[in-house]
Amino acid sequence: MSKTIETKGKCLCGKVEIHAKKLQTQIGACHCTSCRTWGGGPFLAIDGGEDVVFTGEEYISIYNSSDWAERGFCKNCGTNLFYHLKKPSKYILTVGLFGEDNAFNFDHQVFIDEKPGYYNFANETKNMTGEECFAAFSACQEKND
Ligand SMILES: [Zn+2]
Ligand SMILES: [Zn+2]
Repeated sequence: MSKTIETKGKCLCGKVEIHAKKLQTQIGACHCTSCRTWGGGPFLAIDGGEDVVFTGEEYISIYNSSDWAERGFCKNCGTNLFYHLKKPSKYILTVGLFGEDNAFNFDHQVFIDEKPGYYNFANETKNMTGEECFAAFSACQEKND
């Protein structure tokens, strides 16, 4: 069963604080073209569920990246904060916001089929293609209905 922790994080300038009440401890990497364009490399993130409270909301800019998701960043320092699935609401939070917590475990990689050849993680993880990820995601949605 997946374990969750309650923790706080912040962006580089500190204007935005993130209070995640039920943060998973498994880190996922997304290699999709959108994430890599957005962040300059693979997006390393943790599922924070819907129970996330932001301080300094006036500093958060939202980019509506698709019909089902949006991406948030700090407009003062540019820190990427989250990928947010709209329905049901779910925040995938950038792991770097939280510093180094030993509870974290790099566990899975998604959109492995969109990963460029110029890097590879040596970690042993579960890897999913974009198609497998969408299939897993719709299975998730069914459970949430
Ligand atoms: Zn900031
Ligand atoms: Zn991605």
